[in-house]
Amino acid sequence: MPAYFKSQNDKWVKCISASGTIRAIAVSATETATFFSKRHQMNDDGTIKALSEALVAGLILSSYCKAEEKINLNIQGSGWCKHAIIDANADAEVRGYVVARPKEEVKISKDVGPWGIGLLSVLRTKHQENKPYIGTVPLLTGHLAKDLTFYWLQSEQVQSAVGIEVITQGGSLQRAEGFLIQAMPGATEQDISYIESHLRKFQQFRENTAEQDNPKNLLSYLLEDQTFSILEEKQITAHCPCSLDRVKRSLLLIGEAELTAIFSEGQQTEINCDFCSEKYFISPSQIKELIKTLHP
Ligand SMILES: [Zn+2]
Repeated sequence: MPAYFKSQNDKWVKCISASGTIRAIAVSATETATFFSKRHQMNDDGTIKALSEALVAGLILSSYCKAEEKINLNIQGSGWCKHAIIDANADAEVRGYVVARPKEEVKISKDVGPWGIGLLSVLRTKHQENKPYIGTVPLLTGHLAKDLTFYWLQSEQVQSAVGIEVITQGGSLQRAEGFLIQAMPGATEQDISYIESHLRKFQQFRENTAEQDNPKNLLSYLLEDQTFSILEEKQITAHCPCSLDRVKRSLLLIGEAELTAIFSEGQQTEINCDFCSEKYFISPSQIKELIKTLHP
């Protein structure tokens, strides 16, 4: 079955300050990231961490999508991973995968974080529209949260602070969470410096608490001296919409000559979904049916 898992604990919580000039979101996605790392049969701390960070980043990005909008986060780095792809939408549905780099090929200079240098792109698409808004920034620091902070400033012209924390131990994920605090139109200099001070605060929160992930606790801590109201609380769902029908439709794109070549081999064709590691098997007779549809 394609990936589907609705966590009881994972959610995002959005809020806005009473002044209306600061908005924030906190995400916890530990169970969802664990679900995907198991589906992809990952057992290495480095890649589990990379996938979990990217999933939290994707959810933070999608939390500000309008209804029926979705985002695609594409990270290409020189560190642990060659790339990471995450799809997420305004309904808090998410899926994703990373392509790990063989350990001997990982070259990260001392002053750069584990993602290395590269590119970070965000495609924002409205449902059933094919013209995405694309924002691309260089991956400069190799720390996903810092580079995302730069993304919001550069690509969306919004002063932000992003924090992502993922803890793994012995090949299993202990915690995956994050937050975004942003200045809204009308924000004062004071608001902006308040936002900037939060990256340090996030670190202290984790050093001083052994509590389970709870986005509301994190927001209360981060915004302790502000009055704020909760705008939305949404459960996160691991969801991949792949299906045998979609796989067949994508096979049609390779063209008749290629399909005929596959058919003549007489073997069952195996196709894996990158996003959820679901395996699909297509028989030669199904390939024949597909070829027929090309000649209505
Ligand atoms: Zn899938």
